[in-house]
Amino acid sequence: MRHQFGEFGGQYVPDPVVKALGELEKAFEEAIEDSSFIEEYKMYLKEYVGRPSPLFYAENMTNDLGGAKVYLKREDLNHTGAHKINNVIGQILLAKRMGKKKIIAETGAGQHGVATATAAAMFDMECEIFMGEEDTIRQRLNVFRMEMLGAKVTPVTTGTRTLSDAVDFAIAQWVERIDDTFYLLGSAVGPHPYPVIVKEFQKIIGKEAKKQILEKEGRLPDYCIACVGGGSNAIGLFAEFVPHEEVKLIGVEAAGKGIHTDEHAATMTLGKEGVLHGMRTIYVQDDNGDVKPVYSISAGLDYPGVGPEHAYFKESGRADYFAATDEEAVDSFLYLSKTEGIIPAIESSHAIAYARKFVPTLSKDEIVIINVSGRGDKDVEAIESFLRNR
Ligand SMILES: *Cc1c(COP(=O)(O)O)cnc(C)c1O
Repeated sequence: MRHQFGEFGGQYVPDPVVKALGELEKAFEEAIEDSSFIEEYKMYLKEYVGRPSPLFYAENMTNDLGGAKVYLKREDLNHTGAHKINNVIGQILLAKRMGKKKIIAETGAGQHGVATATAAAMFDMECEIFMGEEDTIRQRLNVFRMEMLGAKVTPVTTGTRTLSDAVDFAIAQWVERIDDTFYLLGSAVGPHPYPVIVKEFQKIIGKEAKKQILEKEGRLPDYCIACVGGGSNAIGLFAEFVPHEEVKLIGVEAAGKGIHTDEHAATMTLGKEGVLHGMRTIYVQDDNGDVKPVYSISAGLDYPGVGPEHAYFKESGRADYFAATDEEAVDSFLYLSKTEGIIPAIESSHAIAYARKFVPTLSKDEIVIINVSGRGDKDVEAIESFLRNR
């Protein structure tokens, strides 16, 4: 089998899915060579998403940490409040181009589901979201939000009734409805070509950041830092800088209650190689190689695997990966709110947490870009309850 990222990636799926993925790959490759497709994608990013997002010089944080200069890439300012919409717009345009009438997607906490339902409403496409039954209960408000936007939310009742099962279910459903249905995957994971497609539609983050830092500083950054769930916001920031060896890339995953407990989502720190959700990658597993349940205060980082390109970056040493705990992320959520007046998503707060430890060890002439993948308004209630109970 062909693997796209060293020994990682591939298509570990039944034959009918391989066929569907082949059609998808062909349509995708044609689309990104077609300038009218790219123009349309860019138009929606500008007029609907509100891009480009600013690269903000965080002067207060820089002075407070007393090390490198810190810049924040403000994906929190996008329509719907996070980076996920970039990918959703790209894939839905691809679906339209392929003549598909219906969109299906998986969602964990509901963030990708909401972004998908949003774009489906705007493009007037039928939309069904698969969500673990357990998650539909934990995230009732997001279920309502998706329904409000016109989507149908179908609870998945297999396995642990969470995200992992919703992904398997969505792939299975896709094959049955392949004629008129497009499967819109939410992160840089799954069988080829999804990790490549998601990277393509998220790399706008790094493209803009590179242009912006060159304008402001006249040179590239020394470090790029992003949180990693499946890895789409991180790959979106990293992609443009990968060829520049001098730019160091750092991913931060969720250590939950600590990497010495069973309650974490530290995929790269503690996971092993294997096959999950149609791809060869690294994931958190038990002694039999079965996927283990993961935990994080952050719903967006609560995924047992990681995109295959990150597994490859880790193995090849092109990027380094660290983990931040719930406690550290919550402290950093409060820190950025107080220091810069920016309430970051609890996911993004993991990247901030690592930066707060790392930046003071750097010199004043170094430059760090941190991706603020989303805004934290959605998390305020959970943070309040975390602080009350700790
Ligand atoms: C979903 C989400 C993430 C994690 O997903 P990636 O694919 O790893 O980027 C991070 N931040 C926010 C705000 C999210 O909504």
